Amino acid sequence: MRTFDLVIIGTGSANSIVNERFADWNVAFVEAGKFGGTCLNMGCIPTKMFVHTAEVAYTPSEAARLGVDETFNAVDWPAVRDRIFGRIDPIEAGGREWRATNSPNQTVFAGEGRFTGPKQLTVTVDSVEETITAPKFVIAAGGRPQLLEVEGLAELPGVYTSDTVMRIDELPSRMVIVGAGFIAAEFAHVFSSFGVEVTVLCRSEAMLRAQDDDVSARFTELAQERWDVRLNTQISKAEQIDDGIRLHTTSGAIDTELVLVAIGRVPNTDRLNPEATGVELHPDGRIKVDEHQRTNVEGIFALGDISSDYQLKHVANHEARVVHHNLLHPDSPKASDHRFVPEAVFTHPQVAKVGLTEREARERGINFITATQDYADIAYGWAMEDTTGFLKLLADPDTGQLLGAHIIGPQASTLIQPLIQAMSFGLPARKMATDQYWIHPAMPELVENALLKLDLPH
Ligand code: NAP
Repeated sequence: MRTFDLVIIGTGSANSIVNERFADWNVAFVEAGKFGGTCLNMGCIPTKMFVHTAEVAYTPSEAARLGVDETFNAVDWPAVRDRIFGRIDPIEAGGREWRATNSPNQTVFAGEGRFTGPKQLTVTVDSVEETITAPKFVIAAGGRPQLLEVEGLAELPGVYTSDTVMRIDELPSRMVIVGAGFIAAEFAHVFSSFGVEVTVLCRSEAMLRAQDDDVSARFTELAQERWDVRLNTQISKAEQIDDGIRLHTTSGAIDTELVLVAIGRVPNTDRLNPEATGVELHPDGRIKVDEHQRTNVEGIFALGDISSDYQLKHVANHEARVVHHNLLHPDSPKASDHRFVPEAVFTHPQVAKVGLTEREARERGINFITATQDYADIAYGWAMEDTTGFLKLLADPDTGQLLGAHIIGPQASTLIQPLIQAMSFGLPARKMATDQYWIHPAMPELVENALLKLDLPH
């Protein structure tokens, strides 16, 4: 059995752990899928490249209210797709090649790994099995799309997930998206901007339900104006028809060419079998870790989607930095900081949040005040003729500290950043509003005005 100093399972965020500080370590990298993980290959990066393209394609729809007469003609799908993956795929290949050749101390196993005993991982590369061991492991093998268990669906061609839908051969004329979360909201924007007729099947009464209720309600209202959004709808059966797929749903039969299933993601622990090395799991299959990203087995760390409460690349990267430190300094370990984890949904309009929603604050019995600022009432909002966007803040009336921020509207993912900073560094809301300049008439005036609206004594 080959022995390494460290085995890294999954080459998304965990790939960055091993730098020159590990030059003397004999490290194995095990990667069953694409090098670089979900974010690079089928997540954040290609989707945002599609989203930006969608924003360009969507401009004519917004131009008329500004008095500009623009028309959308068509999208050259193969050109868009190949431009994006023509950039992504070489990065993936380059990353793999670099790891394989960079150092004699580093070995890449391009195959599936499965724990078969205490600190023993059996890797299968080109049908050849080899068992490797090490005193230290980092498990960062991520997750994959949850599949939808509906009679007939799995056997049908034309059913995709976020792993596969970005590489389709041609655009369909219509598609159904099952789910109403991040992925559904982003791809509905992308494909409808490209001219596809989109139907969204939402099993509950609102899209983006994990957002603050006001944001979720506003987004659902806007989505219903743009897409055929079927609320409180579930699929009971799917079947092949002459020109596509028929979905039998609680809102009637829907015929479509393509189905995108976007109903959440599951951790890859079932494939990895960490129980064989004694690692404990949560009931939902994620690996249990402490604040230092340590599992219950000495020397085994986990990070990212396979263990985290957050399926977000910036969280996985943070956790990877913590593991990097803790591998090198086991006697003075760092803890992960999950206090103010922000997120953004790159749909249209954009949505971003940090901290507590109003519902969460109520459920936790936290005393709070709120203030809401519409884009329509700031100068740049006038320039954009925005009538639907807003920023909602929650603050502690006693300390003046921000508790949460929720934005729906243009550049939400950027506008949220000073609020993340204020919360992370404990900057009181009133001080933040008054003790610095805010560029007039720039979009951050949305933040300034919302802060000033909070009814705080100081
Ligand atoms: P998601 O955001 O958790 O949303 C899942 C959606 O599927 C919800 O609308 C949920 O409905 C619905 N759903 C769940 N089970 C269902 C079922 N059996 N039948 C029908 N609908 C069902 O999940 P996602 O969109 O798949 O994204 C996965 C994760 O990837 C996200 O949570 C996020 O962390 C990450 N992600 C991040 C970004 C970003 O950072 N911009 C982009 C994409 C993905 P309910 O509301 O009723 O529960």
